Amino acid sequence: MAAPFNPYDNYLEVMERAAKMLGLVPNDYASLQQPERELKVSIPVEMDDGSLRVFEGYRIQHSSSRGPCKGGLRYHQDVDVDEVKALAAWMTFKCAVVNIPYGGAKGAVKVDPSTLSLNELKNLTRRYTAMILPLIGPERDIPAPDVGTNADVMGWIMDTYSMFMGFTSPGVVTGKPVDIGGSLGRREATGRGVMFVVREYLHRRGIPMIGTRVAVQGLGNVGGTAALLLHREGCRIVAASDVSGGLYDAKGLDVPAIAAYLSQRGRLLKDYEAPATAKRITNAELLECDCDLLVPAALENQITASNAGKVKAGIVVEGANGPTTAEADAILERLGKKVVPDILANAGGVVVSYFEWVQNIQSLMWDEEEVNRTLEKIMIRAFNEVWDKTTKHDTTMRMGAYMVALERITKAKRIRGVFP
Ligand code: NAD
Repeated sequence: MAAPFNPYDNYLEVMERAAKMLGLVPNDYASLQQPERELKVSIPVEMDDGSLRVFEGYRIQHSSSRGPCKGGLRYHQDVDVDEVKALAAWMTFKCAVVNIPYGGAKGAVKVDPSTLSLNELKNLTRRYTAMILPLIGPERDIPAPDVGTNADVMGWIMDTYSMFMGFTSPGVVTGKPVDIGGSLGRREATGRGVMFVVREYLHRRGIPMIGTRVAVQGLGNVGGTAALLLHREGCRIVAASDVSGGLYDAKGLDVPAIAAYLSQRGRLLKDYEAPATAKRITNAELLECDCDLLVPAALENQITASNAGKVKAGIVVEGANGPTTAEADAILERLGKKVVPDILANAGGVVVSYFEWVQNIQSLMWDEEEVNRTLEKIMIRAFNEVWDKTTKHDTTMRMGAYMVALERITKAKRIRGVFP
């Protein structure tokens, strides 16, 4: 029987393989094998019915070699420490691939946010912020939204931190509401980045976007925006899903109508009234459906050794972090399937988070056109650098992306040296 999936082991395996390909020696990457700092907190929350519940939370900083730590905050009932460690490490590599001056971090609380009232969610967020206070700050570690969190949650973090500091500190989080220092274009940035990467990839392969059949797993912030923008660019979205299940329509789904339906909090795809041509499918079926390009944009560990052989798409663009296990990756490679890795494909979010932080610390505001144009420039540059590295080493794009990132991270480490 296969060992249970451990995302941190997955990270280590990929990182060490890329390091060997680059000819690095263990001293060069030893400090990337574990996070710099791990904080575990127990968060008491008074519930609306008067009971007290204690939630488990984390903030983990993987690396600060290239700048302040940066990474999202996840609210999900299944999170554990190895998942947060992996997510933090992937942030270090993602920031290096797109060459923005950050290290990597991640936070999480073990909770299903849909079971909390707005008041309970706010109290949980404020108490969590107070408990991780020594680690965060615009020059230390800057959280952002991830699965189960959104702009409102970031706003509460910003306010709580500011109350402790005694002054308003917008730069402590990104992905905030625009009215309190958020950036225009941040909410759509990750999905927009996915669209740019798909466009560049298809262009390199000489495949027209128009008519390319796409399946998207997870119509949340990342997948929902990516589906909408790919649809606008002429792709045919033949399948899409959320946690409640999916839809398949060979003729193409009405993505704008689905997105409008799901835009209200609490709505699920299973309750959407689909046309007769659409068939209900499970999330497992979505991954194996008949399409040209698959965008897993939900959670990690979706394409595994047991289903990788059944993936029909020739191209996988990873909207989610870590959706493909290392074993599945090897199977896809053997079958000639091409994977555009998460640390490149979903980096648009952290790029615009960087723009938001830059605007906050300079007290400037960019218009949306400038945000999107600069994002596009950075994503294209990163794509080309990864493509060139991949071609030069005749390897996968995952290895190419890790090599680009490792060169930058280990160079920063070498220049700074080991303290003391
Ligand atoms: P989200 O909470 O907005 O959306 C998640 C989506 O996945 C929802 O549609 C949900 O219904 C669905 N889902 C949840 N569990 C599922 C399951 N077991 N099977 C199928 N679908 C499921 O989250 P998001 O911010 O869109 O993040 C999605 C992925 O993208 C995560 O891996 C996250 O780490 C990654 N990511 C997010 C950002 C960002 O800016 N939000 C940036 C980079 C990477």
